[in-house]
Amino acid sequence: MADDCIFCKIVAGELPSHNIQEDEHTIAFMDINPWTRGHALVIPRNHSKNLYEVPEEDLAHTASASKRLALTMRDRLGCDGVNLLNCCEPAAWQTVFHMHMHVIPRYDDDPLKLPIPPQPADPAELEQIARELRGG
Ligand code: 5GP
Ligand code: ZN
Repeated sequence: MADDCIFCKIVAGELPSHNIQEDEHTIAFMDINPWTRGHALVIPRNHSKNLYEVPEEDLAHTASASKRLALTMRDRLGCDGVNLLNCCEPAAWQTVFHMHMHVIPRYDDDPLKLPIPPQPADPAELEQIARELRGG
């Protein structure tokens, strides 16, 4: 448990939360600022800051629990789809520094929009970036 981590406090039962699903490695609870009806967070019980630092095993358990929750949302809320979202570092919108996956049920008539309209890339630039990512 990390000092002053609100999600560690939720795991420990020291802060109130609307829990939905729990297992040995993860818990899921409602997000207090939901983007859609049913927006929830899945977190590993162990503290890690974010995707850069989470141990592979905790990440795998978080992914499996997110899938289980997505199916629950489909079956019990009747959503038409689900987005999984992870924010890693403030540049990527991370505001709580305990690894978590947003599980966001989507409805055909919900108001969410893609943040960026799809735009084709320059093929030469794509190849250059791919070379950088491959490491040479
Ligand atoms: P991030 O921006 O780090 O990806 O997401 C953090 C999420 O945690 C936000 O969607 C925010 O609404 C949610 N959140 C922040 N504080 C609390 C809290 O005390 N309880 C719950 N249930 N959710 C929280
Ligand atoms: Zn924590």
